[in-house]
Amino acid sequence: MDAVLQTIAREHGTPCYVYFADRIEERIAALKDAFGGRFHLSFAVKSNPNAALLKWLRGRVENLDISSGGELVRGLAAGWDPRLLSFTGPGKTEAEIESAVRSRIGELVVESLAEAEIAGRVAVRHGLRQPILVRIAPNRVPKGFGLNMAGKPSQFGIDEEELDAALVRIRSLAGLELVGFHIYSGTQCLDAAAIAENYEIFLEMFRRFAAGHGLSPRKLVFGAGIGIPYHERDVAVDLRTVADRINPQLDALRAEPRFADSELVLELGRYLVGEAGIYLTRVIARKVSRGKVLCICDGGMNHHLAACGHFGTVIHRNYRMFRVTEGRTGPADETIDLVGPLCTTIDTLGRGVAMPGLDVGDVVALHCSGAYGLSASPINFISHAPPREWLVEGPAGAASIRPAE
Ligand SMILES: *Cc1c(COP(=O)(O)O)cnc(C)c1O
Repeated sequence: MDAVLQTIAREHGTPCYVYFADRIEERIAALKDAFGGRFHLSFAVKSNPNAALLKWLRGRVENLDISSGGELVRGLAAGWDPRLLSFTGPGKTEAEIESAVRSRIGELVVESLAEAEIAGRVAVRHGLRQPILVRIAPNRVPKGFGLNMAGKPSQFGIDEEELDAALVRIRSLAGLELVGFHIYSGTQCLDAAAIAENYEIFLEMFRRFAAGHGLSPRKLVFGAGIGIPYHERDVAVDLRTVADRINPQLDALRAEPRFADSELVLELGRYLVGEAGIYLTRVIARKVSRGKVLCICDGGMNHHLAACGHFGTVIHRNYRMFRVTEGRTGPADETIDLVGPLCTTIDTLGRGVAMPGLDVGDVVALHCSGAYGLSASPINFISHAPPREWLVEGPAGAASIRPAE
């Protein structure tokens, strides 16, 4: 990997994002292997809508989950069969629903009764019957999820307490066909037991609402919630532990006649692509200020909001990072603050980073940058040029490096 990053930095310059396709392939294989093929995989486009990546994923994961009309356009432009797309997200406009329905997407994931009513009207207007999943907002998520949407007021899904009444209404609407349920209630969990427990909560709810309404769901979507080790002391999730506990329960579900034909889908973003991506930035200036060494880089918060701690985190903790260029070393105990080029104090990529001797011209790589990187950043703030994106395939010595715009 280092050699590829050095080549890209030298020949094409910085700042840039580099996505290693082989890493994603390994993740897909690990998921298929651990769960023994019980789950299909759905990629959450919002985690990385890069066009080359969406194309590459075609045929490698079963589904795409889109969250806007724009992501619909991107998915279709990448050559995805619309029937393999689901559309999740609060605040879908009628125009977005209309383009999704008219594109014949697989499932619209309904987040409220009002949205179902709009979707039904749109489908009837076009003489269509739109398959829908109803998104359930559970009142509980186990401890250990970095992001937890359960048990509090939320714009996502229909509160489980109100679902019975809503399902009766939704099922009475013309133009819609209820084909299953969807739950995504938390994410960034590194605790295998908590992830498994969360799926158990999902299973209980799928059973309760399917039985209560006499449904045999065609599809059940599990918002995976699997986290990745962003920071130095984080420990990666042991998929085996999740699978050992949950596989027998998935088999038990499928053994019930009502669920015999249910397709089980694991919907995820960061776990698939997060660790496959690197952000590269170069030191433009080194400065000692009041005893502290500061290295000012050619990109920062404008390209990578999350690494600067402003995307869903309260306290900034450094992403794991390393120096790509070799050479100079400084005093062993030297630590450095890495900042971006923006005229704001919140543009900080790393504090107290141990990279002794880091200096002008050196290139630094940030791990875990394949999800919620460029697309989740305020790229227009201060009008620097956007970073380039590269997709790398194949083994180190013989890697193919191509632009991924
Ligand atoms: C964001 C999102 C995901 C992906 O979450 P990750 O934490 O990246 O795995 C999946 N499903 C829905 C509905 C989402 O909004």
